[in-house]
Amino acid sequence: MSYAYLQCIEESCRLRQDPKRDAYHCVACGGLLEVKYDFDPFDPEELRETWHRRRLSGEPIDRSGVWRFRELIPFVDPATRIISLSEGSTPLVGTRRAGYWAGPVHLTIKHQGNNPTGSFKDLGMTACITRASSRNVRMVACASTGNTSSSMAAYAARAGIKALLFVPYRQISAAKLAQALDFGAIVVEVGDTFDQAFRLLREIAPELGLYLVNSVNPFRIEGQKTIVAEMMEQRAWRPPDYIVVPGGNLGNASAVGKGLQELLELGFIEKIPRVVVVQAAGANPFYQMISSGLPDLIPVEDPNTQATAIRIGRPANWKKARRVLEWTGGLSESVTDEEIFEAKRVLAEDGVGCEPASAATIAGVRKLCRAGKIERHADVVAVLTGNQLKDTDYIMRHRSASEENRQRWCVEPNLDALRRALDQALGVPV
Ligand SMILES: *Cc1c(COP(=O)(O)O)cnc(C)c1O
Ligand SMILES: [Zn+2]
Repeated sequence: MSYAYLQCIEESCRLRQDPKRDAYHCVACGGLLEVKYDFDPFDPEELRETWHRRRLSGEPIDRSGVWRFRELIPFVDPATRIISLSEGSTPLVGTRRAGYWAGPVHLTIKHQGNNPTGSFKDLGMTACITRASSRNVRMVACASTGNTSSSMAAYAARAGIKALLFVPYRQISAAKLAQALDFGAIVVEVGDTFDQAFRLLREIAPELGLYLVNSVNPFRIEGQKTIVAEMMEQRAWRPPDYIVVPGGNLGNASAVGKGLQELLELGFIEKIPRVVVVQAAGANPFYQMISSGLPDLIPVEDPNTQATAIRIGRPANWKKARRVLEWTGGLSESVTDEEIFEAKRVLAEDGVGCEPASAATIAGVRKLCRAGKIERHADVVAVLTGNQLKDTDYIMRHRSASEENRQRWCVEPNLDALRRALDQALGVPV
């Protein structure tokens, strides 16, 4: 059987630690931990066939887009109860206008909004809550910009574990808050930013014996990394040139990179795509570090963007994410809220809806293309991280009646008024 252990990511330390410990940081140096494996030898070809076959199986564990690839995440023993809501198995769709607008590049969308709670967080959560459940944890907690909390609340409910979440006061979208409440979580609104809520949670967690499911929890990353196995399978194991993700706490970028690195080492792919991390201009400490070649990340104290899912000034996983850019020859870019809106509008013209944070990816590709850092006609996969309905307030703010954008009409209920309105709305006499 494959064997899993935890290891410190710091080059100068790399201490292996007890996989039975529920820790997020190295006992020796405080560095981040990652899950490592001594994999059983296997034949990639055989395993690809097994994974493919499982898609037709009726077993919940085979239908999950995470657990279908369980040989890549062998940290639970076979007797463990898997907490799954049939996450993953999300579509990979082509674009027309968006790819032309952003490049032109050959742009496909991996839409993680098609997950049970509407974001990619479900991939990590099934892994992390399965781990928590196998350790008989009674209460899980996280700080969140919204989607982690919806996801945690759902999977905790499924596992019969209490869920406690900290969110910044009035800073998360109504839909995300509603989901968490619907799944029965206890919600504490505290602080003005995610970073503040997260710091307070970390300080209070030990005395309450809370099991944290933020992306500093290395098992989250394990679930999230399966996105690349699924993506490669959908592409007949031909890696694209670039995989683009938005960057908030940088768990997703870390997971994508770890997944790719392992697929390469295990012989599933022969080249590694360059990972691109796009941040919002008002919350871009990672971009700043990369673009100015700084040795350390300087936090943004007052992060600000309407893309609330990436409104994070002090990303916990920056070291893992930087390693990913080094491994893959990756890039980072920063985009304004206006550029994000524009990208979201172009995606909508292709019939693709998503959260503002997700659209940052396409805006980033366009900028990098203009700068000649991504070649024209490159093969690019953008990960759209969240569902369109996660933030309808944003859409209403940008799309309701105004001089330039008259999409929405309130009409007196009679035919004359209706004709007049439609005449104006459609720009042709009715
Ligand atoms: C969480 C989230 C992000 C940011 O992901 P990180 O792993 O924190 O970088 C981006 N978009 C959406 C929709 C999210 O929910
Ligand atoms: Zn260490």
